[in-house]
Amino acid sequence: MSTCCWYTPGGASTVDVLKCYASSTGSSQFQTADEDLCYCLECVAEYHRARDEVPFLHEVLWELETLRLINHFEKSMKAEVEDDELYIVDNNGEEQLFDCSGQDFENRLRVPLFEILKYPYLLLHERLNELCVEALCRMEQANCSFQVFDKYPGIYLFLVHPNEMVRRWAILTARNLGKVDRDDYYNLQEVLTCLFKVIELGLLESPDIYTSSVLEKGKLVLLPTHMYDTTNYKNY
Ligand SMILES: [Zn+2]
Repeated sequence: MSTCCWYTPGGASTVDVLKCYASSTGSSQFQTADEDLCYCLECVAEYHRARDEVPFLHEVLWELETLRLINHFEKSMKAEVEDDELYIVDNNGEEQLFDCSGQDFENRLRVPLFEILKYPYLLLHERLNELCVEALCRMEQANCSFQVFDKYPGIYLFLVHPNEMVRRWAILTARNLGKVDRDDYYNLQEVLTCLFKVIELGLLESPDIYTSSVLEKGKLVLLPTHMYDTTNYKNY
């Protein structure tokens, strides 16, 4: 990738690029733009910065973002299974083994995982949430735990995730990142508010009070039930 589609100082304004991108649903013209978002962190940051300026496009972009990420995750996970023919079979059926030479796996998914952890509203999409969890678990199982060095809000959301392995990953990661100070709090506010709301509104007792109509697409206001363990107050 010689030039970045999104991060080009002095190039066309990213907001303009984003508007074209949003109106050209599915056109192959933006294939490189999608690829940049899958492999280049600067592009991801620039994309989201521009996205903040165009709230009226959020719904269209939400469809494109989730589709792009789901495709990329699915492709990467599938490639991994094909590359690797080592299996152990246990009582639960077939489980896949892969080792740290599966560094490729991390390389392919690092940017999308950072994007999701940094902009965790993406986790509202149930399928994407599932794929992200699966990727993190595979790395855990391969003893090459996904490393994060910044206090990305998604980590804190995963502290209450129904999947135990991801929860453990989040607890360790959050602990390694240290105390949340005032500056961090500002970045994490949205996520922490969501976490508190689950308790305040009594969602653990009756998770279905709030129907999906309240869960706005692409906006992290309330946690949907796939994001926390509804059966276990203690984990919360
Ligand atoms: Zn880039």
